[in-house]
Amino acid sequence: MADSTALSPAAADRPVYVIGGGPGGLAVAYTLRARGIRAVVLEKSDRVGASWRGHYDRLHLHTTRRLSGLPGLPMPRRFGRWVSRDDVVRYLEKYAEHHELEIVTGVEVSRVDRAPDGQGWLLHATGGRELTGAAVVVATGYNHTPHLPDWPGREEYTGELLHASAYRNAEPYAGRDVLVVGVGNTGAEIAVDLVEGGASRVRLAVRTAPHIVRRSTAGWAAQYSGVLVRRLPVGLVDRLSRPLAKVSVPDLSAHGLPRPDTGLYSRVLEGAVPVQDVGLIDAIRAGKVEVVAAVDGFEDGKVALADGTFVEPDAVVAATGYRRGLEGLVGHLDVLDSRGKPLAHGARTPAGAPGLYFTGFTNPISGMLRELAMDAEKIARAVAKRGAERLSRLPVA
Ligand SMILES: Cc1cc2nc3c(=O)[nH]c(=O)nc-3n(C[C@H](O)[C@H](O)[C@H](O)COP(=O)(O)OP(=O)(O)OC[C@H]3O[C@@H](n4cnc5c(N)ncnc54)[C@H](O)[C@@H]3O)c2cc1C
Repeated sequence: MADSTALSPAAADRPVYVIGGGPGGLAVAYTLRARGIRAVVLEKSDRVGASWRGHYDRLHLHTTRRLSGLPGLPMPRRFGRWVSRDDVVRYLEKYAEHHELEIVTGVEVSRVDRAPDGQGWLLHATGGRELTGAAVVVATGYNHTPHLPDWPGREEYTGELLHASAYRNAEPYAGRDVLVVGVGNTGAEIAVDLVEGGASRVRLAVRTAPHIVRRSTAGWAAQYSGVLVRRLPVGLVDRLSRPLAKVSVPDLSAHGLPRPDTGLYSRVLEGAVPVQDVGLIDAIRAGKVEVVAAVDGFEDGKVALADGTFVEPDAVVAATGYRRGLEGLVGHLDVLDSRGKPLAHGARTPAGAPGLYFTGFTNPISGMLRELAMDAEKIARAVAKRGAERLSRLPVA
């Protein structure tokens, strides 16, 4: 339920603080501004779009340009259908400039507390800053903190081990034997990048076989199907997707990658979006990417796999995901579930935390950027309703 607790006149003079200058935070800042509400984005790095600047070089959006634009400014046609990382960054820079968003960079928010007067939120930030906002939108990103499993023997392992967030391109791995761990979209794409970049051997360690979908079939983007089925019952989507997968994706069991037992949409709800094929299927069939068992740990300079075998690669790239990293920021407010995800998102606020909004902590089948755009509109509507006419207003030009 959207929060409807109105603000006192004093609290209403405070701006809305948006924590994080990625696509989610920028979109909310714009939708608030479009309603005449003053929004200040606090971004810990020195520029907007920090996450996108750090992604690997070959990355292109898996979602279409048209369904990835943020409110109030479409992505330019010249970016093509599958937008490159650099163009996403260009777009975010342009977005902030075009909408004249109020952004303070180099400010990291470490903790959010209730304001002492009970009206709004007190933010503790870099340099001992204390900022009080009428409302706060947390947009610090689903992929906030790189997660490296606590594998036995990891600390003693002296070989090259890096998280996928530190991988840029295949150049340092040309002529080398690399083990990629994890077959989400990132692991799958890095494995292909390594093959194309001349690694001498590429193995992909897989614990649970993923759902693999074609990014586009006869011009129909996989994302369109995601949008269509978003509100359908999970069991139905699971059933529908099975025969479709059989037609569009070859059986890779002989190469160590059987079809998954769990349905496609059930897996999405568990947090695993399908892998969009950008060359993995061909690379596996050609034997250029070898599928091996999951990593269980490290022993005597070798990597121990779940099937009892050992491998000795030159480098290990762990595409093992991210954590939300919200505990320090808002964990003490009882607004997170047992997995560290916010209890409410979009226009809804967690019980007992009026004016504390979260965006970007879902991982929808229909595309995260599209979801961020929709949530931004909903959050701005909810904030405007809550503050009625009394929120800190921008001067009318
Ligand atoms: C490799 C990869 C590919 C993806 N491809 C697609 C795709 O094709 N289509 C799609 O729809 N989605 C995609 N996504 C998912 C999603 O769209 C992106 O992760 C997107 O960047 C999320 O935006 P965000 O604003 O929620 O988070 P982020 O972009 O991560 O932005 C968060 C911002 O908050 C800042 N920040 C964090 N903590 C603090 C703090 N305490 N104080 C101040 N600032 C802080 C960070 O510096 C960062 O700038 C992809 C994600 C990844 C990782």
